[in-house]
Amino acid sequence: MSTIEIRKVTKMFGDFTAVKDADLKVAAGEVVCLLGPSGCGKTTTLRMIAGLERVTAGDVIIAGKNMNELSPQKRDIAMVFQFYALYPALSVGQNIAMPLHYEKLSKEEMDKRVMKVAKILHLDTVLDRLPGQVSEGEKQRVAVARAIVRDPNCFLFDEPLSRLDVELRHSMRGQIKEVLSGLSKATVIVTHDQLEALTMADRIAIMRDGLIEQVGSPHEVFAKPANVFVASFIGTPQMNLIEANFKGYGDGKAKVVFDKQEVTIGANAGVASLKPGKVTVGIRPRAFSVASRDTKDTIDAQAELIEPMGAETLIHARTITGGDIRVVVTRDKRVKVGELLHLVPDPAQTHIFDESGKAVRA
Ligand code: ATP
Repeated sequence: MSTIEIRKVTKMFGDFTAVKDADLKVAAGEVVCLLGPSGCGKTTTLRMIAGLERVTAGDVIIAGKNMNELSPQKRDIAMVFQFYALYPALSVGQNIAMPLHYEKLSKEEMDKRVMKVAKILHLDTVLDRLPGQVSEGEKQRVAVARAIVRDPNCFLFDEPLSRLDVELRHSMRGQIKEVLSGLSKATVIVTHDQLEALTMADRIAIMRDGLIEQVGSPHEVFAKPANVFVASFIGTPQMNLIEANFKGYGDGKAKVVFDKQEVTIGANAGVASLKPGKVTVGIRPRAFSVASRDTKDTIDAQAELIEPMGAETLIHARTITGGDIRVVVTRDKRVKVGELLHLVPDPAQTHIFDESGKAVRA
């Protein structure tokens, strides 16, 4: 069974801890993206799974077997790197066939396997060309084809699309996802691009400073971020994270003071156990409605900058005491610079984080 598991995996480089106590399970057929800012430990985690880096502590288990002492070759993993290199003097077909030379297959069987993956990746019409005679997107697909042409235990991808231009990345995301969905292998993809993770992953592991902060489906990490870091990292435009003073809870609502505005906002029952004090209130820019002047419990902010984004408009507004708020409205909602907006947060999309930054949930 193609599965990957890391248990309490730690990697130290001298005194520096690059990855700490990482736990992650990837089921057969599942795609998990490691997502996080530069230097958070994504590549190091992937390299430990691949055996390119020894674990300082913990266990790497692939297909149910402990791999800690095994070399990369013995782990039977296929990897696609950001800087893949194709053999320039070999044809696309010969490049794809390369990993099969170790398997001592007949020429016929080899051709059959190459043709099968070439068809999956729409490369069957360019098999005789040299890498210099195909497009960047096709080269990228050759790198993927070369990885999947064998039948390895699992797949590891390190920033596989970062070399491609925006348009190509968009189409390749879908294509790779489609290819992987037909292979029943555990796959880990490293990326720092949240859109890539949100579109390609079944689950996302979000890392910061060597720690896995949250593992969840794209929907979970977006709709129920575990802490302020995940909330700020996932979603564009970024979630508003407003420092506030929590006064109390009752009737499904929390009383909070944002700078000088006291408002009652919808909040989950978990907030009932929170002690009065500092909190962070998280509201996504699309989770506001703009109300009329006499509506109660609005957050008031003045529109300062208006950015048309096609079907929607992003408004940068400022609260009475100078806090920034980003609001997204539909294009037909006309807002002028200088206008005072009365904002009502959607209770189902309002997050409260305690003083340590952890989400308070029921
Ligand atoms: P990026 O997105 O920039 O590739 P990353 O999340 O993949 O970043 P890693 O490459 O895993 O991050 O690095 C994690 C931390 O470990 C970084 O601070 C990096 O400088 C450090 N590091 C990585 N490899 C080594 C090494 N061989 N020796 C010392 N420090 C290292």
